[in-house]
Amino acid sequence: MTATELRLSLPQGLTSFIISVMAATGKILGFACNSKNQQIRTAIRAVLGRVKARTPRAWKRILEKIQRFEVRKMADGDLGEWISEYDGPSMSEVAKICFAAKTAAEIRAALLMEAKFEDRTQWPGIVRLCPTIARTADYAVATVAHEIGHAAATAKDMQHRNAPDQEWASEAAADRYAYLWGFGREIRSRIETRSLGHHGPARGQCIEWEGKYYRLNRRFSYEEITEAEFRK
Ligand SMILES: [Zn+2]
Repeated sequence: MTATELRLSLPQGLTSFIISVMAATGKILGFACNSKNQQIRTAIRAVLGRVKARTPRAWKRILEKIQRFEVRKMADGDLGEWISEYDGPSMSEVAKICFAAKTAAEIRAALLMEAKFEDRTQWPGIVRLCPTIARTADYAVATVAHEIGHAAATAKDMQHRNAPDQEWASEAAADRYAYLWGFGREIRSRIETRSLGHHGPARGQCIEWEGKYYRLNRRFSYEEITEAEFRK
């Protein structure tokens, strides 16, 4: 039923109420979202609009990958999460299995597992967002851009981060997309919510890791630096 048909068949007050509810909970650029919070919906719309306009290839990927946006309470300190349906082993588990494989059958299974791991970024999933991100427009936009960045990232994107840790590669790849879409200011504005251990350094920050020193450079790649540069 269209809005005009609705208008013709119902009293006016009820019609405008139904139309406003439809507008408040409908899809956002084709993506389902369970929240009526206008701050969050506006942020999702703004980020999706930029992805579509600036990175058509990433837009194609997220159309295939993001099943919906789900706004619900999360654990303390968590603002958002990209929940991929990938159900395979982690990189260290794959390495362990490959190392231990002896028989032809074991080697075949290990190679299959490795291929599945290489393909993990192509799996669909959902973007989960915590309602607390609605506290400011910048918070909402930064979180949405970062989580959509996770969905947009490919295995190659992660490799190019040259990160000493897989989790940090994924975080840097997500932030890189948020910057590409023009949300660098918003990402910087929520820097105090970062945990160095979980997210790795922010752009321009340095870190010491297993006796080596790194800087996350402007292209969101980990660059090895000297101890003197680190201490500067
Ligand atoms: Zn992240």
